[in-house]
Amino acid sequence: MRISLQAELGDFQDRHTIYVFALKMSFLAVTLSSVVITLILPPLSWMGMLPVPLAHGVVYGVLLSWLIGGAVSSVLSLVAGHAMHQLSVSRAEFEQLSRTDVLSGLLNRRAFTEALEEVDENACLAIFDVDRFKAINDRFGHACGDAVIVAVSAILAAAFAGSSAAARLGGEEFGAIVVGGSQEQRIERVRSVCAHLAGQPVAAGDCVVAITVSAGIAELGEGRSKEGAYSAADKALYLAKALGRNRVVHENEGLHPGWRRHSSEEREINTICDEARLA
Ligand code: GH3
Ligand code: MG
Ligand code: MG
Repeated sequence: MRISLQAELGDFQDRHTIYVFALKMSFLAVTLSSVVITLILPPLSWMGMLPVPLAHGVVYGVLLSWLIGGAVSSVLSLVAGHAMHQLSVSRAEFEQLSRTDVLSGLLNRRAFTEALEEVDENACLAIFDVDRFKAINDRFGHACGDAVIVAVSAILAAAFAGSSAAARLGGEEFGAIVVGGSQEQRIERVRSVCAHLAGQPVAAGDCVVAITVSAGIAELGEGRSKEGAYSAADKALYLAKALGRNRVVHENEGLHPGWRRHSSEEREINTICDEARLA
């Protein structure tokens, strides 16, 4: 019932639907009143309460119900249709607002969690975090920090448009669902976005700020819980920060010896991974 009402209201976003609705309701009203008149007049005529012959009475009654009833019900249906149109438009706007992060215009955390639930193909979850963002706020001011968030958001939105999705998860932390290609290609996409962000200073309002971004990646797909993927991406991000920031770490890094070339770095990863597991 709720679903069908929602579908009906959804349809009312289109003005054309209002006129079709008004036409249908008026036709229904005059047809019903014509039937009622045709049924009521014969007993009245039989009781001698009809001042005109029955045939004339029926013709006048049906004619009046089409003229007056049709006009009145059309106006009332149009008013009701417009009210439903307004309701469906404001409901759509409200839904859009409840899913959007106000500052960045990206999806918010709630909408991102819903989008994660809908992933049914191989994809990856990337969590991005601007490095040393507090220092940007401290040095250039909160407004400039906000402008950096907006600029980073625009780059992420462009990079993950279409079947992929980008969201602001809170503060200077962003999420992306990267869909399409192989695992290596998806990791490469995330790396190139981070490289792009680090490669050119961000024009943020009056100030131009050089930033770097760290990211953690986890695989999504059949048999993987969204919570599991989220926590794995978060740990990978923690690892990226601990390894010095300005880098992308996939969840498998540190689990497979040899993923990285330098043994000193590998030892460092293992220590950090052990710490993260203990935490
Ligand atoms: P790290 O490299 O470890 O991520 O360091 P960081 O400084 O980026 O991280 P930290 O968590 O210490 O600081 C994040 C700061 O982001 C703290 C908070 O005041 C600021 N912040 C959170 N939300 C907003 C926002 O909407 N606008 C601005 N300008 N700052 C925000
Ligand atoms: Mg940060
Ligand atoms: Mg953060």
